[in-house]
Amino acid sequence: MNLRDYIKIVPDWPKQGVQFKDITPLMDNGEAFRYATDQIVKYAREKEIDLVVGPEARGFIVGCPVAYSLGVGFAPVRKEGKLPRETIKVQYGLEYGKDVLTIHKDAVKPGQRVLITDDLLATGGTIDATIKLVEQLGGVVAGIAFLIELNYLNGRANLDGYDILTLIPYD
Ligand code: 5GP
Repeated sequence: MNLRDYIKIVPDWPKQGVQFKDITPLMDNGEAFRYATDQIVKYAREKEIDLVVGPEARGFIVGCPVAYSLGVGFAPVRKEGKLPRETIKVQYGLEYGKDVLTIHKDAVKPGQRVLITDDLLATGGTIDATIKLVEQLGGVVAGIAFLIELNYLNGRANLDGYDILTLIPYD
């Protein structure tokens, strides 16, 4: 299956000059969504993952079916003010601005092997912040999985030393 066929490129969205990669056609197709999920599950099994962590909102879409399939938990990383109990937070630079990400303080147990998931790696800012949250709680980032990687933004350079799986690279 060629997953690339299920990504739609939207020119000048959300702003002029951005070629937005829309993953909703992939999610909308049961076979493609399952195939993508199964690739990440296979990777996660090799990494002996105990917990999946993903940033809102598309990190949930990618990560939750993986967690379900593995029979492990999923912990959400969210924007400030969205999680109801005690959190830790980190500030990060985004492709389209600045923001804060948070996670519940008890979401990751020390020593847990964590898989981080998101739909797309651009500059790496979102995932770098997510890594910091997981590691502050004592988790071990054993792998990071994306549907899409924008190679030309070189986000991998910001995630040096971490193991990364990408299903659909764009040059
Ligand atoms: P980064 O922090 O790596 O610069 O940006 C990645 C984040 O921005 C991801 O959470 C992703 O959801 C979002 N993002 C940036 N560009 C795109 C895009 O073209 N398509 C999609 N689906 N998400 C994007």
